Amino acid sequence: MEREEKIAVLQDVMRMKSVNDHETEVATYLKDLLAEHGIDSELVHYEGDRSNLVAELHGAEAGKVLGISGHLDVVAAGDESEWIHPPFDAVIEDGKLYGRGSTDMKAGTVGLVIAMIELKESGRPFKGTIKLLATFGEEIGTLGSKQLTSLGYADDLDGLLIAEPSGPNELVSAHKGSISYKVVSKGKSSHSSMPGEGINAINQLNAFITRANASMQEVADEYESEKLGRTTQAITLISGGTQINSIPERAELEGNIRSIAEYDNDKIQARLTAIIDEINQEIDGSLELTFTQNNFPVDKPSDNDLILAAQKVVGDLPVVGISPTTDGAQFTQADNHFDFLIFGPGEPSLPHQLNEFVKVEEYLSFIDIFQDIFVTYLA
Ligand SMILES: [Zn+2]
Repeated sequence: MEREEKIAVLQDVMRMKSVNDHETEVATYLKDLLAEHGIDSELVHYEGDRSNLVAELHGAEAGKVLGISGHLDVVAAGDESEWIHPPFDAVIEDGKLYGRGSTDMKAGTVGLVIAMIELKESGRPFKGTIKLLATFGEEIGTLGSKQLTSLGYADDLDGLLIAEPSGPNELVSAHKGSISYKVVSKGKSSHSSMPGEGINAINQLNAFITRANASMQEVADEYESEKLGRTTQAITLISGGTQINSIPERAELEGNIRSIAEYDNDKIQARLTAIIDEINQEIDGSLELTFTQNNFPVDKPSDNDLILAAQKVVGDLPVVGISPTTDGAQFTQADNHFDFLIFGPGEPSLPHQLNEFVKVEEYLSFIDIFQDIFVTYLA
């Protein structure tokens, strides 16, 4: 594919506003592009305008299955007037392609698709299968990877390359998990001049905050991952009460925990559940806990075969862990244990920011790097 066409394809895809929805448009565009180059693919539909895209490219002989994955959605652009270029215009200036999703991660996803096409057209030999797993809904809920994993699409993988933005200087083998939860406190209202007549839902919630913070601090003090550091927790949303002179009968909060494999999601969930049970024994009202997100930590060896293949291609780059979660959180729940690498174009510091961009040359060079990694891993 010509250089100008590779850039134009990325610009086309960036102009599609797949903000936590409408990923079918992107999936269909890439399906048509693959079809033009003789590669069959399948839309795996979820609901409404949301679909995954799955495609396979087979080598001349049987061999390993390398999954390659990127997501099709982007986060909201925020106040569009604050961008130096409109976030969905895909403007290029000084070698940088600006727009929401440039770095996170349409450059990576489109780069993988074009690498698949170019590898087919080059006729370079490889053994086994390259399996594209392009997902919807990664940013909120990792919905697409959850659906594909539950349908068995990751069960045959030997390796998985996710093209999230690591930039060209680091290889990523690990990322934290993410657990989100909500606590609803129910009490009883009364006039604030007679608090004893009511049950203060905010006070009950406060008991939870104090114990949860202390309990998660114990976890952070006791367990540490070499690549990922310590577990973190933050209560990020809170609301309660209706007016100044009433004892609040309802209050709620939400929190987010970033987990590591050394103290996994099941243990954290059990710990929070125990705190809730303990407080419910002591109070007259009630606390109800629900988990709204459960993304598992991923921590694969730095010398797994996919990383070794990448190092043959790009040299002895350092292997690190990152805090943000990825679709790897869901795919690694498949029956198979597989090699794992996150490596893709873009600045790791730019996702979800104003004036997000990807360097055009970096995007183009990753298309070549991806092909070399595919062929090296599937040699
Ligand atoms: Zn991403």
